[in-house]
Amino acid sequence: MEKNTSHIEWHCISCFATLNDQPGFDEQASSWTCLKCGHTNLNPCTEPKHTATNRKG
Ligand SMILES: [Zn+2]
Repeated sequence: MEKNTSHIEWHCISCFATLNDQPGFDEQASSWTCLKCGHTNLNPCTEPKHTATNRKG
């Protein structure tokens, strides 16, 4: 078993589900909508360091 250091683990900020486990998940995407609760999470990779509150729709 190898550990890929480039692997990013996403967690839903709403329900804390592991998004990597969800079907069709793409860690290269800029965002992912949690299949469990429907919350849209931004890619932790592309997100700037500061935690801005995005007002989108
Ligand atoms: Zn969720």
